[in-house]
Amino acid sequence: MSGRPDADVQRALAAAADLARDYLGGLSERHVGYREDGATIHQRLAGRLTIAWNQNAALHALSPAAAGVEQVAGEWMLELLDLPRDASFGFPTGAGLGNAVGLAAARHVVLARAGWDVEARGLYGAPEIRAVVGAEAHATALTALQYLGLGRERVIAVDTDDQGRMRADRLGDVLASLDGPLIVCAQAGNVNSGAFDPIGSIADTLAGYPNAWLHIDGAFGLWAATVPRLRHLVAGVERADSWSTDAHKWLNVGYDCGFVTVRDPEAHRAAMSATAAYLLQGAGRDNWEYVLDSSRRARGFVVWATLRSLGRDGVCALVERCCDLASRIADRLRGADGVEILNDVTLNQVLVRFTPGGGGDADAFTREVVGRVQADGTAWMGSTAWHGQAAMRISVSNWSTTEADADRTAEAILEAATPGT
Ligand SMILES: *Cc1c(COP(=O)(O)O)cnc(C)c1O
Repeated sequence: MSGRPDADVQRALAAAADLARDYLGGLSERHVGYREDGATIHQRLAGRLTIAWNQNAALHALSPAAAGVEQVAGEWMLELLDLPRDASFGFPTGAGLGNAVGLAAARHVVLARAGWDVEARGLYGAPEIRAVVGAEAHATALTALQYLGLGRERVIAVDTDDQGRMRADRLGDVLASLDGPLIVCAQAGNVNSGAFDPIGSIADTLAGYPNAWLHIDGAFGLWAATVPRLRHLVAGVERADSWSTDAHKWLNVGYDCGFVTVRDPEAHRAAMSATAAYLLQGAGRDNWEYVLDSSRRARGFVVWATLRSLGRDGVCALVERCCDLASRIADRLRGADGVEILNDVTLNQVLVRFTPGGGGDADAFTREVVGRVQADGTAWMGSTAWHGQAAMRISVSNWSTTEADADRTAEAILEAATPGT
């Protein structure tokens, strides 16, 4: 800084102009690939306050407002997602690191029950933990286990069914040969198909294992709990021990914001806590006891403002609308020549496969169609591999998507798939 405000402003404006000129072409619109890209009014307003106030949300002593707001926003989230009201919670960067937090609490508890203090002693010489996931677990569940020293290749992967759900019968077979500390990570919402692991049956199976922990990766799927007609999909999730989800996907609060919840607050804090003499702890909720971050922005402000403004009905409408639009796109595509919908469209995910006219290499053609739609610019979606086949992956979670957007997107896809164009 030069100390001359006009010169500072000139330089800041020039830098912003450079940023916009160089990177504008790399921004995305009408995104049905990974997530939302439309800022809500809540994000625009409360997000600006977050930046303007620049509160450090780590400790109560640094920002009583950030501590209080995250406490209230977290309680509202538990109510909305119908999770145990006395569970502890934190706002990590996203569901991926939420998985790491939940699984760290799991590691703490299953080893404490076996007489081992993992935070103090690490894993050298510790009783062996067996970690179990579905064969189609999200990549971040495996990286979380990798961070925790449980070894991504030592994880036991249970077979999945045609929709990508963990098979509870196979879980039973796998567990029959195991005893001792056990962590099972199940999924509410397969990243490709949107399908839910049979969480009730998984919890039934685990009831026979005294030292087991059930973690749910529900990055977007847990939000089904907010819609009465979808609630059956999450049946049994309340029986788990920890849960991770995203606020920046379906709640549309803007990056970066996840939500992690642990039934046992002591375990949650034991797995995350740090102490140092200069840190003024204890005056109230210290957010950093619940996430991996220390100093960070006050993520809870936008969550609070979004929930306060949308209310339960508004969130329900948002989630339900996205699911309706996914079905609408699937219905438009279904039945067109050479177009196949690969998954049961029960949530907001659609997997599409394209076969060229006259037959031919459907994998290559599917990737080609995805590339054409991306280049066309009407909407953006990615490709994926689904049970050995290439597929277009559509995921609707942007609050601002309309029926007209869905129809334009379906038209653009059909056009890209028309042979000879
Ligand atoms: C998106 C997603 C994640 C990771 O969430 P981030 O927000 O990227 O941290 C984890 N699990 C599932 C099922 C997801 O869809």
